[in-house]
Amino acid sequence: MRILLVEDDQALGEGIRTALKPEGYTVDWLQDGASALHALSHESFELAILDLGLPRMDGLQVLKHLRAAANPVPVLVLTARDATSDRIAGLDAGADDYLIKPFDVAELKARLRALLRRSFQRPQPALEYRGIRLDPASQMVEYQGQAINLPRKEFLLLHELLIQPGRVLTRDKLQQALYGWDEEVESNALEVHVHHLRKKFFPELIRTVRGVGYLVDK
Ligand code: CA
Repeated sequence: MRILLVEDDQALGEGIRTALKPEGYTVDWLQDGASALHALSHESFELAILDLGLPRMDGLQVLKHLRAAANPVPVLVLTARDATSDRIAGLDAGADDYLIKPFDVAELKARLRALLRRSFQRPQPALEYRGIRLDPASQMVEYQGQAINLPRKEFLLLHELLIQPGRVLTRDKLQQALYGWDEEVESNALEVHVHHLRKKFFPELIRTVRGVGYLVDK
């Protein structure tokens, strides 16, 4: 579960990241609005925690740009301003929920769980490809009608690859989708997952594009 945390307060950012890690979230942390908008536009996150008062671009502007581009990522807004008008502006701009600082970490965790539950209930179509059926809602995978039990990282990898067959996915992009930016990863971890997927399904499922990444043929 990859979350983008956007918070310019060093202590608060550290605190949130530390609190969320044991919950199994991969937390990537940025400290200004412009970088956040760039990351959210180019990479996939299950959720964003967005402070409103940020350098280089206000959180509200980030949110407006995201929604104008039809980016559906669930956003939890953090705000120190307790003026009702800011909260309303945040919700109007497309925030899914908000928390006023200071807040209790337990409450933050509960809000995140609720948001993620809601977002997974949005209909996500099952992906079908040459006898493979992957259902993102139930997290079930079948091959030729048989249920296949995949470890989390293999599931995520297969999901990324099947979203758009024919598109080459770079090693960087896949590694970020699986691990986030700063999780230490063995350099051959991706190859190992690919190898397992080929064995569990069929060898031609994933094509290596030498020096670039991987591809599932159309
Ligand atoms: Ca701030």
